[in-house]
Amino acid sequence: MKKIVFATNNSHKLTEVRAIVGQQIEILSLADINCFADIPETAATLEGNALLKARFVYDHYGLDCFADDTGLEVDALGGAPGVHTARYACADHNDTEANTRKLLAELKNKTDRRAQFRTVIALIEDGAVRYFEGIVEGSIATEKIGTDGFGYDPVFIPEEAGQTFAQLGPAAKNEISHRARAVRALVDYLTAQPEGVS
Ligand code: IMP
Repeated sequence: MKKIVFATNNSHKLTEVRAIVGQQIEILSLADINCFADIPETAATLEGNALLKARFVYDHYGLDCFADDTGLEVDALGGAPGVHTARYACADHNDTEANTRKLLAELKNKTDRRAQFRTVIALIEDGAVRYFEGIVEGSIATEKIGTDGFGYDPVFIPEEAGQTFAQLGPAAKNEISHRARAVRALVDYLTAQPEGVS
């Protein structure tokens, strides 16, 4: 079976991606390759951050690798928080509670609540870089609803579902999510290759 490293320290993402990929490819975590680094995400774009993470593993471990970066793009905020989604409320760390509180406050009394989640995956395979993208359109709820998932899941309502990702639960989220769409494009690419990743 093909093996590839997913450069993330986020156990929620790892679980989601393994569930989406299924048995087709073995996904190794950073812990599986004894990498415990906190890889910096200092680029100005989702593509740049995804590449930084994948490049770190490729350069230090010599293994084919992919990494994702996700942004929440809110229409009424001119596409913000975008690449700053993780550090929206606190400049130096990802505080989920503070992030969602700030988002709800920024949108208070706003009628246009349209938003999209966008995931970019950077794959480095034999030194070559490729990108895959997944988008889900939706809107921001007026309060947190639901208990599943992580991050902004309790406030994001995908258009197709009419309830938040946190209400939908993992299986339904993985049918339609930004990450699932990007990961499926990646898997289609990897499984279509005659040589594949090993
Ligand atoms: P990153 O891709 O790990 O940099 O994530 C950026 C920010 O988006 C973090 O605050 C994550 O918690 C949040 N995030 C990423 N993916 C999701 C998701 O699927 N649902 C909700 N929040 C997410």
